Amino acid sequence: MDYEIVGKTAAIAAASAGLGLATAQALSRAGARVAICSREKERVDAAVALIGNGAIGFVCDVSTATGGRLFVEQAIAKLGSVDILIANGGGPPGGTFLSTPEDDYIGAIEKNLLSVVAMCHAAVPAMRERKWGRIVAITSVAVRQPMPNLILSNTARAGVTGFLKTLAREIACDGVTVNSVQPGIHATDRITQLYGANTDGAAMGIPAGVMGDPADFGEVTAFLCSEHAKFITGVQLHIDGGSYAGLL
Ligand code: NAD
Repeated sequence: MDYEIVGKTAAIAAASAGLGLATAQALSRAGARVAICSREKERVDAAVALIGNGAIGFVCDVSTATGGRLFVEQAIAKLGSVDILIANGGGPPGGTFLSTPEDDYIGAIEKNLLSVVAMCHAAVPAMRERKWGRIVAITSVAVRQPMPNLILSNTARAGVTGFLKTLAREIACDGVTVNSVQPGIHATDRITQLYGANTDGAAMGIPAGVMGDPADFGEVTAFLCSEHAKFITGVQLHIDGGSYAGLL
């Protein structure tokens, strides 16, 4: 399928590996001009080389609102615009209510909520002026079904989902869509960090029996950025091999 985004500009945060990188690769294959960021120059350079097609990279830490805004501003300065924003970032550390100090919530909210708000503030005004824009935030299926031992993620990502839904309805009339994609368990470094190296999809209770393939996740996310997806906004799409058991 032709996504009809040839020549559009795309900023993908936290994309030297995992789901962000896979999304950058899918958007680039679809013809978008891509800018990514990550925290270490070597990893940024390696990802840029992997994406090819004139992709550019920035060393930028998006765990704060300042960092999130800076990345989008740098991408706009270099690409001339940002038509597509993939708001992504690292996940917060694991922990339960009992093991997580109260002060840690501030960092998680800055990282997984306020940084996304700042990226949107940097990108949305020009998208509205051009009457075209796509924003997709990578969150987690934990928004639907909070996961044990991830209380910071469960809390901050519920907040960002409320923000995105509100924004989506406010700017739908400007040709700008705002959605989130909610990964279940996909085979990335994040999952190795959380669950160790021996991760068996079936043993982890994924009905599909395997972990998700980041490349598939990237294609689905890229589709939400396509011209054809212009009527999809305010959606939270779980991509989880059937793990979420609820109806809605
Ligand atoms: P990952 O660890 O494989 O990759 C994260 C990427 O972001 C890497 O390139 C890393 O260098 C970069 N990064 C991390 N922190 C950054 C920061 N502060 N500033 C800039 N770059 C940063 O992670 P992933 O599996 O691709 O996950 C992406 C997001 O999706 C995370 O927020 C994660 O918590 C969430 N998530 C992932 C899964 C999964 O199955 N992989 C499930 C639920 C939620």
